[in-house]
Amino acid sequence: MLTTAPKGTKDIMPDQIYKWHYVEKKFREIADKYGYSEIRTPVFEHTELFTRSVGDTTDIVQKEMYTFQDLGNRSITLRPEGTASVVRAFLEHKVYANPQPTKIYYETSCYRYEKPQSGRLREFHQFGVEVFGAESMIADAEIISFANDFLTECGIDNLKLKINSVGCPSCREKYKSALKDYFRPHLDKLCENCKDRFDRNPMRIIDCKSPEDHELALNAPSILDYLCTDCKASFEEVKENLDTLGIEYEIDPTIVRGLDYYTKTAFEFVTDKIGAQGTVCGGGRYDNLMYEVGEQDVPGVGFGLGIERLLLLMDACGVEIPKADSMDALIVFMGEDARKVALKITKELRQKGLKVDIDAMERNIKGQLKYADRLGVRYAVVIGDDEILNGEAQVRDMRISEQKAVPFSKLYEELSK
Ligand code: ATP
Ligand code: MG
Repeated sequence: MLTTAPKGTKDIMPDQIYKWHYVEKKFREIADKYGYSEIRTPVFEHTELFTRSVGDTTDIVQKEMYTFQDLGNRSITLRPEGTASVVRAFLEHKVYANPQPTKIYYETSCYRYEKPQSGRLREFHQFGVEVFGAESMIADAEIISFANDFLTECGIDNLKLKINSVGCPSCREKYKSALKDYFRPHLDKLCENCKDRFDRNPMRIIDCKSPEDHELALNAPSILDYLCTDCKASFEEVKENLDTLGIEYEIDPTIVRGLDYYTKTAFEFVTDKIGAQGTVCGGGRYDNLMYEVGEQDVPGVGFGLGIERLLLLMDACGVEIPKADSMDALIVFMGEDARKVALKITKELRQKGLKVDIDAMERNIKGQLKYADRLGVRYAVVIGDDEILNGEAQVRDMRISEQKAVPFSKLYEELSK
C-alpha cells in the first residue's frame, strides 16, 4: 500500500518528463500565437459549481466526482474538468466588465472516479482553452483551428475532426421528443444507464458507449433535422469558416453534449489508433452556461484535450520526441584542495550559462568518469593536485575520449565550443 500509488493515477517519472515538457511548450507557443493568456485555478471547488455547470444528469456528476466534506463542513469536489473553474473565475473577477472576448488557456489535472484502463485514468491532465464573450462562429472556427494546429505540430496527421450542432434549448425540445419516440419501442434493449437517461436526458443515449445502444443510435433521428433557423445558419457559418481555413471535417450528428447549457457547435478529434478511448480532444459552444452559474449573459466556446491520450497517440504514430540536451560537463576532482576548486569552478561555469554537474557521491576518479559517461556529458573536467599547481584542468572530450590541458581561466571558452 505505502509504496503503491492509488489506482488510476500515474507518476510521471523524470525519464519521461521530456515528453510532457515538449507538448507543454508547443501548446504554449500556439496559445501565444493565437493571443490566449494562461489561467491557474484551484484543484478543488465548491461541489455546487460542478453540479450546476457540468450538469446533474451527466455521468461525471452522477458517479465520477471526488467529493468530500472538509473540516469546516463544506462540500468540496476535486475538479473533474476545466471549464467550470474558468467560468467561475471569470464571474468572480468580473472579467465580463472588460472589453471582450476573453481568451484563456490552461493545463490542468482532472479527477474522475472511472474504471481505469488505457487512456482512462482517475487523475489525468488536460490542455484547455475557452473564449468568452464572442457570439460569432469565427470563435468556434478559431478554437477548432487552434486544436488542429496543435495536434499537427505534435506530429499527428491521421486524426478525424467530427463536428455537429446540438442546437439550442428550443430546437432540442422537439428533437428530444422525436428521440424518445424512436427509442421507446427499444427501451428494454437499452443499457441500465440509458433506461435512466431516457426520461432525464435522452440525448445522452446517442453517445452511450455500450455496443447495442451505439448500434441503435446509428439510426436515431438526427439533431441536424431539428435545428431552428438561427442554429442552422450558425452551423453553416462554422462549416464555411472551416472550409476557408482548409480544415477538413466530417459531420457526425451523434456527437452530443446533452446538456441544456451547451449550444450549437460540438466537435471531437478522434483516432482509432489507441483503442477504445479514441477521443483526444472534445469541445463546443456553451452560450447558456455563464447564465446558469452566475446570471451573466456571456457566450462561451472551448475545448479540452487529454494529455495522456495525446502522448499515447504520439507514441502510436511513431513520433520521436527529442530528449532534453544532456549536461555540458562534469567536474571531476581528486583530493581536499581540488574539491574546493571544483566547487568554485562548477559555480562559475553555471553562472556563465553552462549545464555543469559535480559528483555528490565523492567517488574515486574512475567512478566519477563512469558517472560522466552515464550522464552523457560532453566533457569531463578533471582537477587534482597537479592541475591546481599548474592552474589548468584536464578536459576530456567524452565522445572521442581525448584529453587536453586547459587553463582554468579558459574553461568556459573551451567547454562552450
Ligand atoms: P470519454 O468519452 O472518452 O469519456 P469525455 O467526453 O468524458 O471523454 P471530456 O469531458 O470532453 O471527455 O474531456 C476532454 C478530454 O479529456 C477527452 O477528450 C479525453 O482526451 C480526456 N479525458 C476524459 N476523461 C479522461 C480520463 N478518465 N482519463 C484520461 N483522459 C480523459
Ligand atoms: Mg467520460
